[in-house]
Amino acid sequence: MATGKIGVTTENIFPVIKKFLYSDHEIFLRELVANAIDATQKLKTLAAFGDFKGELGELNVKVTIDKEAGTLTVSDHGIGMDAEDIDKYINQIAFSGAEEFLAKYKDTANSIIGHFGLGFYSAFMVSKKVVIRSLSYKEGAKAVEWSCDGSPEYTLENIEKAERGTDVILYIDDEDKQFLEQLRIDELLKKYCRFLPVPVISGKEQEWKDGKMVDTDKDRVINATEPLWTKKPAELTDDDYRRFYHELMPGNEDPMFWIHLNVDYPFNLTGILYFPKIKNNFDVRRNRIQLYCNQVYVTDQVEGVVPEFMTIMEGVIDSPDIPLNVSRSYLQADRQVKQISTYISKKVAEKLDQLFTEQPQEYEKKWDDIAIFITLGMLTDERFYEQAKKFYLLKDVEGKYFTLEDYRKLIEAEQTDKDGNVIYLYTTDPVAQYSYIQAVKDKGYSVLDMTGQLDSHLMQMLESKMEKTRFVRVDSNTPELLIEKADKKEADLTPLQADVLVSIFRACIPAIEKTNFIVEYRELSAGDAPATVTQNEFMRRMKDMAAMQPGGGMFGEIPDSYAIVVNTAQPAVKKVLDLAVSSLEDRVVPLRAEIETLNNEISEARKAASEKKESVGQDVLDKEKKVAEIREKKEEIMKEYAKEQPEIGQIIDLALLQSNLLKGEALSAFIKRSISLL
Ligand code: ADP
Repeated sequence: MATGKIGVTTENIFPVIKKFLYSDHEIFLRELVANAIDATQKLKTLAAFGDFKGELGELNVKVTIDKEAGTLTVSDHGIGMDAEDIDKYINQIAFSGAEEFLAKYKDTANSIIGHFGLGFYSAFMVSKKVVIRSLSYKEGAKAVEWSCDGSPEYTLENIEKAERGTDVILYIDDEDKQFLEQLRIDELLKKYCRFLPVPVISGKEQEWKDGKMVDTDKDRVINATEPLWTKKPAELTDDDYRRFYHELMPGNEDPMFWIHLNVDYPFNLTGILYFPKIKNNFDVRRNRIQLYCNQVYVTDQVEGVVPEFMTIMEGVIDSPDIPLNVSRSYLQADRQVKQISTYISKKVAEKLDQLFTEQPQEYEKKWDDIAIFITLGMLTDERFYEQAKKFYLLKDVEGKYFTLEDYRKLIEAEQTDKDGNVIYLYTTDPVAQYSYIQAVKDKGYSVLDMTGQLDSHLMQMLESKMEKTRFVRVDSNTPELLIEKADKKEADLTPLQADVLVSIFRACIPAIEKTNFIVEYRELSAGDAPATVTQNEFMRRMKDMAAMQPGGGMFGEIPDSYAIVVNTAQPAVKKVLDLAVSSLEDRVVPLRAEIETLNNEISEARKAASEKKESVGQDVLDKEKKVAEIREKKEEIMKEYAKEQPEIGQIIDLALLQSNLLKGEALSAFIKRSISLL
């Protein structure tokens, strides 16, 4: 029997392993099973090249629990190890500066194992003693047993072992007894070993007998050795892909489509990515892509490996170039991983492009479901945007789809304003904005459906990417002014008329919480609505975007402000205004005259004072106060008058109603008034 010291540069590597890797104890099983699979695959390779001529026998890996002995054993019939191999691969851990390294990376200790040949040693995270019994495939090899109790001392001796291959026997720690439970082991094997390329056996098949499930004599294989992604796409049917999807994601609806990835240059990568059926909601479960390294499960934390926006896809990616033991920060810094990410993004875009080109009708049918994904991609990934702008679809309110290019061609002639901007009219709520949409359509314009949750962000981006492009919501102005064709037509009102009009309408606006209104007037056509509510496009969009952020941000706090645009060409408005002017004239004209006189005096006095560089006298301040008082009096007179004219309130309420702003008390007041007007 030989004894010796494990060749690490630090004496106390084992306490370090235990301490730093504490959080992820369970991965020891993956490491050991992966080693067993490797040894098996190597043997197959040797046999294939004629370097191993013996009987291969049944090449499986077994995970066995012996509760009485307190052991968990991983056995294989792979290449095995002789004394020399053990010395080389197990005793000499290539691990210089271990302590320093661990101290530096203790938070990402996870990424250390594997990279530094510590895979096997992770067994010590859960064991008080580890024994390796192995017989090498080499002709005339002697079987050996290596044993180590967790200190850097080990023993190595020759033993009798008939079968080729390796048993790694873990004497499980008292605090890790969970790993002696078959159910727990099943759970781990399911997680890490589900698709390993060699059959992994653990426990027995069960059957229903005398009212309960009991073990049979048959070994239970826990993995599918040839998962779908390892097969050739040409050999697979749609049903195969769907079946595999349901195996991965039980309980989900059928996926919409999938992409079978298969590259071998500049890196190796296979996988299948599915587009799940998602509606326009953000209730999407992320992290449904599993990463594998040669069919060994690595993680489902795919940040960094696939572009952020693709984390809503589901499926598997397998690459020997993805480091087996990954931490997030490690992944994000890895150049190879970045390339993989770029590649996947490109592949997905190509697949979408292909679908769009080859099956445009199918693509349109799927559009509503994939729009949010593509939009997110365009917003977050410049390169994806460049590809996606060809197959991004705009939808109009009739449900017709257009590419960006086609849509521009469609509207360019009619919807270009006087400054040469092409105006894309859109709605965010076809029901609430119904009357605006109709009015716009009557003018022969097209209206886009921009009801997607990210659409306000997308429009913002398209405006910056596409020259001379503006998105304008249908209710942000009167139909005539959404697309300004010529310079604005000012309403032809006398100052008195204008004063009366604004005052009497302002007086009748109901109080609505967190909402401000101003009154404007415009000479539209006689057939247009008497009044319309409009909202500034910029402010509204800022608020829309703020609403999507948690807390709402700064713009969320600002009250909504709207303009009520009164149409002075509309007969009912004309009537109301004429009547108001004639009824109020006697009282308002003298007050206006008084204000004018005072204002003239004030401005002259102010001018004189400023020329002399003096401050204005008390008499001027008194006059200003007087003006304010007269104004208030004048407003009061008009307000009282307006309150008695149900038509004014009616015109305003109709406009508010049309924009869904009339609610609660204001709505019931409107209904009451409407009834009395009948
Ligand atoms: P890694 O697998 O990352 O190289 P490990 O510490 O897990 O690091 O294993 C070190 C080496 O020990 C392996 O590369 C392999 O040569 C050998 N080894 C480990 N387990 C087995 C096994 N079951 N059969 C044969 N060789 C093994």
